[in-house]
Amino acid sequence: MKYSLYFAPTSKDVPSEAEIISHKLMIRSGMIKQSSAGIYSWLPLGFNVLKKIEHIVRKEQEKAGAVELLMPTMQSADLWIKSGRYDDYGKEMLRIQDRSSRQMLYGPTNEELITEIFRSYINSYKDLPKNLFHIQWKFRDELRPRFGVMRGREFLMKDNYSFDLTFEEAKKSYNNMYRCYLKTFLKLGLTPIVLRAESGAIGGNLSHEFQILAKTGESTLYYDKELENIDPSKANIEKLQDYYAAVDDQHNPSECPINEKQLKISKGIEVGHIFYFGTKYSEKLSALVQTSDGKNVPVEMGSYGIGVSRLVGAIIEAFHDSKGIIWPDQVAPFYVSILNLNTKDLKCNQESEKMYSNLCNINIETLYDDRDIAAGSKFSDHDLIGIPYKIIIGPRDIKEGRVEIENRKTGKKNKLSIEEALNYIIKKSKDSQKL
Ligand code: ATP
Ligand code: MG
Repeated sequence: MKYSLYFAPTSKDVPSEAEIISHKLMIRSGMIKQSSAGIYSWLPLGFNVLKKIEHIVRKEQEKAGAVELLMPTMQSADLWIKSGRYDDYGKEMLRIQDRSSRQMLYGPTNEELITEIFRSYINSYKDLPKNLFHIQWKFRDELRPRFGVMRGREFLMKDNYSFDLTFEEAKKSYNNMYRCYLKTFLKLGLTPIVLRAESGAIGGNLSHEFQILAKTGESTLYYDKELENIDPSKANIEKLQDYYAAVDDQHNPSECPINEKQLKISKGIEVGHIFYFGTKYSEKLSALVQTSDGKNVPVEMGSYGIGVSRLVGAIIEAFHDSKGIIWPDQVAPFYVSILNLNTKDLKCNQESEKMYSNLCNINIETLYDDRDIAAGSKFSDHDLIGIPYKIIIGPRDIKEGRVEIENRKTGKKNKLSIEEALNYIIKKSKDSQKL
């Protein structure tokens, strides 16, 4: 993509309502524009990252055996009245009346709808287990939408639902999703902190929250500080589950299994939540399946959610510096930028164009900054946007056939020949695809 044709309205100004760093950086880098409280337009850069995260989440769901479908955002109130949640949900639910005075709502979640779909088609143990997911916008009229996309009113969620015949089977589905979530967050470059969540009597301990560390997070976490040193690309899933972590009301110093020196207290933000709820909805909505001995029993269910749009903000909270965002390779909107430092220099233009078409030909996502603006502004824009590598093409070096590569994360610069630079980027991009 040529920057001159692109739409990334960067700015130095931060609106006063942006309290946290990810919100500030998303606005400054032109990723989102607020349209009303807690509701955003996703501008090209933001939308690009959102799709990358969605893609990783989808792939891990599919690997775990979940099947994608798409349910509507608008739902009829009928099913919610049957399940008893129409009244319980309270003011967080956006209720709408259609032209025939039918009660509708903008879905805050989809347990009722998926149970109804299941009920309509599946009625035998022979068709179990099933695990269905979708990635769809949700609406919750949050009391205090804030922190940009981290607590929006309209937000993108991946939610899936498991269906099993017995509790034992449901537990297997739950554990399968548990592992899938750990893998998903690691794939996104994040180290998930797993917490037991309360799920009431029926769930027992079959409810977990996945949080990531963020100074501005809304929960207080007590955890083994070793968790901070884990490299997500090398993490061992079995080991990850063994580290101590608790939210403040679960943490009891006298029962804590690790010593004070190992223990750290910090803030976290919830990025995923998994939950076994048994037959809560299948009973109310008559989703019955026949067992091998001919009995009809309500199907055992669990639901599993990941905040896809919240993750955009959460990743920025985890990866930024004073200059801007530092995207992990796998979710970066572009892999490399080309900074043409002098668009009036013939050689700079020629070599930048050549480099750009070479990278495009091998499908490396490139943002070529061909704008006729000061070099300093190009550096600050690309640092803000956070693309992993810059190829810097300036008049003096290029005369000698050299360019400079800068690593956004380490700040390290490297002068290389044009060919070496191209090979370097190709190698790095291949390495990152292996992650
Ligand atoms: P929270 O305690 O943060 O309100 P929740 O318990 O209401 O979350 P769930 O119903 O479990 O959330 O939803 C699944 C996931 O959706 C959450 O883990 C979170 O990542 C995301 N999510 C929930 N509410 C919002 C919101 N208002 N804005 C953005 N993402 C959200
Ligand atoms: Mg909530």
